[in-house]
Amino acid sequence: MSVSVALRLPSLDSLLRHAACQPLAERYGREALLACLRQLLDDLRDAVVAGQLAPIEISPEALAGRAGERLAIQQRCQVRRVFNLTGTVLHTNLGRALLPEEAVDAVQMAARYPLNLEFDLASGKRGDRDDLIEGLIRELTGAEAVTVVNNNAAAVLLTLNSLGARKEGIISRGELIEIGGAFRIPDIMARAGVRLHEVGTTNRTHARDYEAAISPRSGLIMRVHASNYSIEGFTARVPTAELADLAHRHGLPLLEDLGSGSLLDLTRWGLPAEPTVRQALLDGADIVTFSGDKLLGGPQAGLIVGRKELITKIKKNPLKRALRVDKLTLAALEAVLGLYRDPDRLAERLPSLRLLTRPQGDILAQAQRLQPVLAQTVGEPWSVSAVDALGMIGSGSQPVARLPSAALCLRPQVSRRLRGRCLLNLEAALRALPIPVLGRIDDDALWLDLRQLDDEPAWLAQLDQLQVPG
Ligand SMILES: *Cc1c(COP(=O)(O)O)cnc(C)c1O
Repeated sequence: MSVSVALRLPSLDSLLRHAACQPLAERYGREALLACLRQLLDDLRDAVVAGQLAPIEISPEALAGRAGERLAIQQRCQVRRVFNLTGTVLHTNLGRALLPEEAVDAVQMAARYPLNLEFDLASGKRGDRDDLIEGLIRELTGAEAVTVVNNNAAAVLLTLNSLGARKEGIISRGELIEIGGAFRIPDIMARAGVRLHEVGTTNRTHARDYEAAISPRSGLIMRVHASNYSIEGFTARVPTAELADLAHRHGLPLLEDLGSGSLLDLTRWGLPAEPTVRQALLDGADIVTFSGDKLLGGPQAGLIVGRKELITKIKKNPLKRALRVDKLTLAALEAVLGLYRDPDRLAERLPSLRLLTRPQGDILAQAQRLQPVLAQTVGEPWSVSAVDALGMIGSGSQPVARLPSAALCLRPQVSRRLRGRCLLNLEAALRALPIPVLGRIDDDALWLDLRQLDDEPAWLAQLDQLQVPG
């Protein structure tokens, strides 16, 4: 007795012609529907053979329903919105900064219409895309010139290669860092064709260490901001101004990789101090590199700012063409930089800054408001509480600083043995929602940090679809 007889499935042909399938053919196309139905029937036969499914009769209507679900999932975009309730605001895996409306509008314009990307409207001649933001960068940082590339990793690579190829790059052993995603300063230097000359020790590097390393082979001195770690205790580091003096006495450029690079002093909003681009330049750094989508709060980009003659040299490097930004990024970046001209209103207009500065009291009040709803949704065996929590800025900014925040904390009231599985199941159920909800597991509980729960209606609207396994 063959399985397909026992299962009594309709033929592919008759299914395709069945009335229940016509709306699907119209919506997704005959080809896609045919492929989906064929796969569906194969899967059902396999399930029966494997003993996972009893050989019962399945109606064409039921099969069409299942095909519809599969087609809807297949058609869904792979790039999906999520709720970032991890507590890390600038989360590299979740797209870092959120763009302000001004930048979203600029991106739309740039996507829809031709634009003066490399065309000087005043002279009618060919232009340079970097010129579109040079005025703003000069005003906001005091730099003489700027060039923009794909991200800060590209900015560091391009700068090193342009200014130090076939020469030595002098850098402190305390700054030979790795940033997530296998970006390691020694490797980037090697790829840029710069010979690494490390000086000092992990915890202490003195001016005399740099001085002793300088020779006719030297090409530049590099300084890397400690983004994702901190060295504390018995430490020594040469201030940028002193290092710049030393570099300039020997005719070398000082390159400073700020990473996060803030344009304004964040302490005015109660955030931890981060070195600003303007200060690094004032201290004498010749070139400063930083990301567009970390504290700056804009699109992914790498900004290289500093002395005109060095920027000119960097722009002439053929690698620049391979690393340059596209029109959408540039449009967004200009809009974001424009907001910095009015610092008084920045915290309300720039989403990343607005989220980073949200008062803990507000977040806790929100958690208390949502606690009964969530408790009702998840039911037994979960205890749900609204509690204080500690978040992070993220993207390597201020690795040791914690942002006082508040969260919905879900604890399974089950035996220790079952706790881990329970938490993973709930985490998976939250991820399976139409707009996946991402929290973090810590201390035998699942934490939903609400600092970034802006769109509360959308979050609440899908809660009834949460399927918590029993
Ligand atoms: C983040 C960071 C980078 C890499 O920047 P991306 O924009 O992620 O490419 C490089 N250097 C430092 C110090 C950083 O913090």
